Formats: sequence, structure tokens, C-alpha cells
Amino acid sequence: MAFGSSVRATGAAAGVLLAAGLLFSTSRRQAASDQSNQLQKAASTLSYANPMRTQARDSTFAVKHYDLNLDIDPAKRRVSGRSTLEILVTSRELHTLSLNMADNLTANSVQLENKQLQLVHRDNRLNITLERPYHDGSRFQIVINYGITQGGDGLVFDEHDSVPMVYTYGLPFTAQQWFPCKDSPDDKADSADIAITVPTPLVAVSNGRLVRTRTNSEGTTTFYWQVRYPIYPDVISIAVTNYATFTLPYHYGQSQVMPMAFYVYPEDLEKARQQFVVLPEIMKYYVSTFGEYPFIKEKYGVAEFAKRSFREHQTLSSFAANLITTGHENDWILAHELAHQWFGNCISVKNWSHIWLNEGFANYSYALWKEDTEGKEAYLNLMRSWDKDEFDGPVFIKDPTNKNALFSETTFQKGAWVLHMLRHVIGDEAFFNALRSYVKTYAYKSAITEDFELVCEKEYGRPLNWFFKEWVYGVNRPFYQYAWQMKAGVNRSVVELTINQSRSDPAAFEMPIDVVINTEKGENKFVAWQKFTSQNFQFSVEGVPKQVELDPEGWILKKVRQAESLTVRASE
Ligand SMILES: [Zn+2]
Repeated sequence: MAFGSSVRATGAAAGVLLAAGLLFSTSRRQAASDQSNQLQKAASTLSYANPMRTQARDSTFAVKHYDLNLDIDPAKRRVSGRSTLEILVTSRELHTLSLNMADNLTANSVQLENKQLQLVHRDNRLNITLERPYHDGSRFQIVINYGITQGGDGLVFDEHDSVPMVYTYGLPFTAQQWFPCKDSPDDKADSADIAITVPTPLVAVSNGRLVRTRTNSEGTTTFYWQVRYPIYPDVISIAVTNYATFTLPYHYGQSQVMPMAFYVYPEDLEKARQQFVVLPEIMKYYVSTFGEYPFIKEKYGVAEFAKRSFREHQTLSSFAANLITTGHENDWILAHELAHQWFGNCISVKNWSHIWLNEGFANYSYALWKEDTEGKEAYLNLMRSWDKDEFDGPVFIKDPTNKNALFSETTFQKGAWVLHMLRHVIGDEAFFNALRSYVKTYAYKSAITEDFELVCEKEYGRPLNWFFKEWVYGVNRPFYQYAWQMKAGVNRSVVELTINQSRSDPAAFEMPIDVVINTEKGENKFVAWQKFTSQNFQFSVEGVPKQVELDPEGWILKKVRQAESLTVRASE
């Protein structure tokens, strides 16, 4: 594949660049460092209007293609940008085009068919007056020239080992901090082209395939990246520094190979080689569980960056320098980010309120891989370790501009627990079929919780609204109190079990509860489907019962207490 040779070429170029990178002069480093300090001071005194507060859903148009040209001067911490957006009109008449463009960007000019258009840039919006109305279904290309001197969270000027680095940090609402766009996870362009010009010998990486590099006369190199799968703005990414590169093969089909390409600091190369070796294994497991890697004609890549975090940029996850350790303690992050290529990128959310469809799924994917490699007990232990007794608020995030709520234990851990519990409710066969069917149905599109619910109901054959209402939209957990007594029968004993939900809020959670009854003859497993605040169940077992446990493996987020005796109350 052409891409294979491109990556090899980049790898070789990176080797040369690595050597040249060491030649960065001390004075240049010092100057960059001084400038960095000054700019950091300046940045701390600036306050931008929060772009997260200026979201307005605009259904009057869609962006079908982004062509981004960025000329980056890391020493001056400046970017000059030219973006060409292909617009599809989706309303009866479009007179004004309103794009997301954060106030840290400077809009210089806007052109349509070589004519300058009037623009107003304020409150994180770029409003462009069109010369004539455009009708439903028509398309046009708009060219926006702009500059960035302050990147905000979306685009960061940094350095490592005294070498400059520039990187983007996606979602939510950060794309608009480095290019004008329609900044919404359900507004996917069909494709994108990203050209990044940087001083030689720096390396610029981005989404999709590297189709060519060009050496320019003024001591710069341009890297051309091409995305030919649907993509939404927040997962478009660039990362620039003196990267060293290596690849690992992912084999698929008859004898095809997709490169897994890694871009790391030269000083971390050997560590990353050891640590990332696990990724092709995780990839294989995910493909067998969810279906083929969604961006198989491009790549899966990881770019090291300076932020102490990680992000699922499409085909190019960003991974913090401090997470590269050679050990396996961060495997969960590598697995989490790779899972986002299915859950988050291939299927994006329609709006951020449903972010658990990204974060809960990505965490749970890691748990599934752990189960596959280390067994059921390791899986159950991991799930138990993610049970935080109390989770703040529902998994569905009412205020999608609340970043702390979007990225919280509730969406990551409880989100994963929702899937863990759902699996137990509908059974393994229906559950794994539902995961595959969900990926197939919503691939390259956007989804909300109800879309996933519908897929699960189809596989299960029964309604599941009650489940999602309790666990995605509801809060808290059931508080089970139970007591049991034995009634002797002929050759068998009957265990009469009472389960009350005395302090649950809401008063009663509906859940199938595993009941394990131990007798001197062995273990007996049953399911008590509890729906009301108080219910009585009878189970026939061989031998004399010694012990009765509720959900001993931990398939329900719950509190449980055994009582001496309980009376069955009238159910509500
Ligand atoms: Zn994530």
C-alpha cells in the first residue's frame, strides 16, 4: 500500500531529523524559553470568553470538507492559517454563515470565489455575510485566512528537552480554538486535508495518511495529511516536535497490513518500543469483538505530547510523556484510547450529554480485553475497583458545557458499569451481538443513548427502557436487605428468600439479582428478578442450605445487608 511506503519514508526522515534536532542552538533554545515565559505570563492575564458557553446548534448548513493549511513558527509561537471549508446548505436559504471561531484567533479575511466577504468576529463566532442567498442543497467553498498567537487549551505551544513542541488537545469545543469550524461532534465532514508547515527538522503529524512531504526553500518542511473517512472537528489534531517514529504491523484480511505508527520524543523511543508492543494485541481483540478497525485504510497512531493527559484524536491518539514508562500500568489508557476509534470517533455522540457512549465504552473495552487476557476474576476485580460507592449525578450529563461532569468517574467508571450490568441483564450472547450491531448500524455516524438502547432491545427481544432510565438517567443504587429461611421438603430443601429495598432512592430498582445458595452438597445459582420494594422468592436446593448470598460476583452497583428476619411488605 502506498501508505506503507510513506510511513517508512517518514520514519527514515525522522531519523535524520532526530540527529539534526540535537543541533538546536543553545541561544535559540534560550530565546524560545524566554519567550515561553513571557507568553505564559501574558496568557495568565488574558481571559477569553469561554467558547463552551457560546454553543448554538446550527442546522442551516453542514461542513463537508476541511482543508487546513497551518504555517507554524514555534519560536515566535505563532500560527498563520488558511482554511478552506466546503459548505453544504441544509436550509431553505442561507444568507449568513456562522462558524465557531474562538476569540483567540484573528480573522484576517474571508473569500468566496475569489471575492472578499464581510466578516464579524466576536463572542467566539465568525459571522460571514454571503453576497447572495444560497439554497438548500447547494455547495460552496469558503476560504478563511487567520492567525493564532494564543492557543488556549485547543492548541498549545510547549517544549520538551529544550526542543519546541506544538500540539492540539481535542474536545469538547476546542477545535474552534485553532481553526474556524462547525464545532459539534455530530457535524462530521466527509474528509479533511491537513497541511502543516514547520521549521526543518521538526516533524508534523496529523490524522489519516501522510501523502507527501515537501522541503521548502526557506528552511521549512510541509507535511500533507489526508483523511478520507468522516471526521468531526474536535478529533482533528496536529502534533509537532522532533519526533522519532516506529511502526508495528497490524495484519488483517488475507495478507494485508495496516501500520500502527508511533511518534515519540527521541529520548523516549526505547521505552515506547517496549510499552506500545501491547497495542497490536489489543487491536486484534477489539476487532474480534467489535468488528474491523474503522480506519483500516489509514492508520492507528499514537503521538506523544506534553500535556499530562490523553486524547482520542481520530487515527492519532495523543499520549502524555509522563505515561511512557516501559511498564504496563498505563495499558488501560492505551486500550481506552484505541477503543475510542470505534466508540467516540467512528460512532461519535450527537451531543456531549451522551459522552458515556464514548468514555464508558472506552473504559469497558479495556475491561473486556483484561477478561480476555487474564480471565474472569481479573475482569470482576477491575469492575469492583471502579465501583466508587457514590457517583455524582446521572451518567447522562444534563449540562454538556460542564467539562468536569463530562470527564468524571460518573461517565468513565459508572459508564463502564452500565455496560457491565447490561451484560448481566441481557446475557453474553445478546450483549456482544448488540455491541457489534451498534458499531455496524452507527458506523461513521452519530448516536445517542436511545440509539444504543434500541439496538440492545432488538438483540434481547424485550424492552430495556427501565434499565437505561435507572442507570443512565437515574442516580443512586439499590439498598438490598435480605433474609432467608429453610423449609424442609422431600429430599430437597426450599429456601424462602425475602428481599426488601428499604432505603433505595428511587424506592425500587428493577434488577435481576444473582442468588447463590451453598449447601453441604455444593453451590446452587438462581436469579431473583426484583422489581418491587419487597419480594419473596422460593428456591429448591439439594441438601441443607448453609449460606445465601446476593450478587456475590458484583454485577450490580448496590448496597447489601443480610438481616435475621424480614417481613414481606405490601409492594408498591
Ligand atoms: Zn476517553
